[in-house]
Amino acid sequence: MEPSTYKITIEGTVQGVGFRPFVYTLAKRFGLTGSVCNGTQGVEIELNATPEMLERFLQALQEELPPLASIDAIHTVECEALHFDDFQIVTTNQEGERTVRIPPDVSICAECEKELFDPANRRYGYPFITCTHCGVRYSIIYDLPYDRKNTSMKFFKMCKTCEAEYTDPLDRRYHAQPIGCWECGPTLKLGMRNEELGIEDNEAIDKTVEFLLEGKIVAVKGVGGYHLMCDATNDAAVLKLRERKQRPAKPFAVMARDMEMARGLAEICEEEETLLLSKERPIVLLKSKVEGGQVIHDSSQRDKSQTTRPLIATNVAPNLSRIGLFLPYTPLHLLLLERLKRPLVATSANLSDEPICTDMASLESLQGVYDYVLEHDRQIVNGCDDSVVMVVAGQEVILRRARGYAPASIKLPFSLRKRTLAMGANQKNTVAIGFDNQVILSPHIGDLGSIGSVEYYEKNIETLKRIYEFAPEIVAYDKHPNYESIKVAKSLITQHSTLNALTVQHHHAHILGVMAEKQIDGKVFGVAFDGTGYGDDGKLWGGEFMVCGYDGYERVAHIDYFKLIGGEKAIKEPRRVALGLLFECFGEAALKLDVPTIQAFSKTQLHTLYIAWQKGLNTPLSSSVGRLFDAVASLLGLCHVMSFEGESGMLLEELYDASVTGHYPFEYKGGEIDILPTIAAILDEEDVTVAVSKFFNTLVEMIATVYAPYDLPLVLSGGVFQNRILLELVFRRFPDAIISNTIPPNDGGIALGQIVASRFIE
Ligand SMILES: [Zn+2]
Ligand SMILES: [Zn+2]
Repeated sequence: MEPSTYKITIEGTVQGVGFRPFVYTLAKRFGLTGSVCNGTQGVEIELNATPEMLERFLQALQEELPPLASIDAIHTVECEALHFDDFQIVTTNQEGERTVRIPPDVSICAECEKELFDPANRRYGYPFITCTHCGVRYSIIYDLPYDRKNTSMKFFKMCKTCEAEYTDPLDRRYHAQPIGCWECGPTLKLGMRNEELGIEDNEAIDKTVEFLLEGKIVAVKGVGGYHLMCDATNDAAVLKLRERKQRPAKPFAVMARDMEMARGLAEICEEEETLLLSKERPIVLLKSKVEGGQVIHDSSQRDKSQTTRPLIATNVAPNLSRIGLFLPYTPLHLLLLERLKRPLVATSANLSDEPICTDMASLESLQGVYDYVLEHDRQIVNGCDDSVVMVVAGQEVILRRARGYAPASIKLPFSLRKRTLAMGANQKNTVAIGFDNQVILSPHIGDLGSIGSVEYYEKNIETLKRIYEFAPEIVAYDKHPNYESIKVAKSLITQHSTLNALTVQHHHAHILGVMAEKQIDGKVFGVAFDGTGYGDDGKLWGGEFMVCGYDGYERVAHIDYFKLIGGEKAIKEPRRVALGLLFECFGEAALKLDVPTIQAFSKTQLHTLYIAWQKGLNTPLSSSVGRLFDAVASLLGLCHVMSFEGESGMLLEELYDASVTGHYPFEYKGGEIDILPTIAAILDEEDVTVAVSKFFNTLVEMIATVYAPYDLPLVLSGGVFQNRILLELVFRRFPDAIISNTIPPNDGGIALGQIVASRFIE
């Protein structure tokens, strides 16, 4: 049979992942002629083949994909006959609409790691070794298509040897955009704050290790920003970092050299190990083996690799049995840990509420926090934090979706009629753009609580719009009148009169996000438990039960409102929430109670707060389950003022005892759940562990009670479901419950929900 000419377009993660050389090698193997190039929608192939050969070729193409590639769709059309002498990789075609994906940053691959430690290799010890199948991507991209000239590697001129590798389709560094070597690539430099020390490359690594061993704090430039690093086994160093960063208790993430070191520090199940070793290399929250600086010795976990020497400083994750661990993901990390032979505290370099530092200018704000800085001259174009995940009931739950995962595209079960830009929420913000049946979600941006963070937020929006040449027709945002995102949205609408506004209720967006990720088309029963989200009635919602579809929702039940004394202040002070509930239960008589919450205030404060509560002065009404956790933590004397968000929930998790059965009473009437009987019962409980455990059971019972009459899928979302215990208990009771796996249950998933809320808008 005579061959015909076919035009094949492949969509998905197909650029910057060695896809063209892969197609080239495959075509050669099949003896086919034609060409392959990067287009704006993916990879475009022209091929002369018989229908039978074409089929075999496409089958092999899908079966033998390069490690970082993934295919969403293959479109094949027969076109007018063309003649080719051989098969060629041709230069990038830039016409047409941009729908190709930006590849995320991935960790160093096994082959590069081998070369890194091979004295005979020309890149031996080179801290920026990389190939087509590994290394930085998103963080160095200015624009698509992903070519060296569109990245911050354009400032480095390749040497002859690198260029030969880069241009040889059969070399494993063919078109590896960040390719470089000792001769031509980026260079390391060790400095003292703003002062240059004139120490470079290998010597810089040796010196850094020396300083770390001395207990110094070093800012180290990574992939999407700087880390602050110190010796994780050194109490004094960790304490110094806490004091200087003014972060008294929030746990630090720890980077371990390898799985063996990680196993010494935490219990790791198979799913968790897979995540630790995955190319995304997220921080994984694990059950710590270390308590009070000592390995816990019991018969079940004794093995010879463990010693009684403190494996990790006590103050890395004070009072918590969970530890966030990750493995090195750059050659530089590997070189440091190889020499150090100890775990490292590695926390994002930023001031609280500010975005991660991505250059020396932004690191300025941390003067006095670090002693030295290990710097390099490859610019970070797009900031990106480390990702954080955990495994609950065998499911991966992502808490912060950033490096390795972002930006990723999510396929919708339907096509959007309009191009939509979603502004996200105010905490743990992400933004998204949606077109056709695709949503591109930005990496974790953070809390929009400072000028710097709002600038970073706007930059992220601009980046997505620029790279995708995206002009929105709809801008979707939260209903909260005081969110920064609304101000930015409104200014966009002022600038572009054709832009339509769409406000989306916070908890509806939460549930819609999960529905979109799971491609659910129909109605669901959504449970949205979180801190606070602005309700349709102007109250602060957060304990919501809603029947949801893409076209709207019905709020079928909620936690009965209670007063947050002091409004915003109550969010940081669990004792204020607890006090409000005590007043609700006992009126003024609460002041005479002998309970921790009352003792956490002075007499004068109590008097003032009672009047405020009684008269309703700055006491917004809330139905938030997040605040309920806070209240319980204060009532039991565990936490009255939080030093970081989510602290109260973590402390409650620590005290949960699975052997405690039963729950506290609550009343469910007319769509409202009265929790005062629960509060009163908690006060009567003598044992804190029993109180905490029964409180968890009570929340599950509430869900069961409200959900009982509905024959709809049970969807869970909201920041409260980051609580491992609650999530485990709900899964135990409802094994088919649905939680998102690729977007976070917290406000990081809101932008996706906002996009899909625009589904029916003409
Ligand atoms: Zn590699
Ligand atoms: Zn070179």
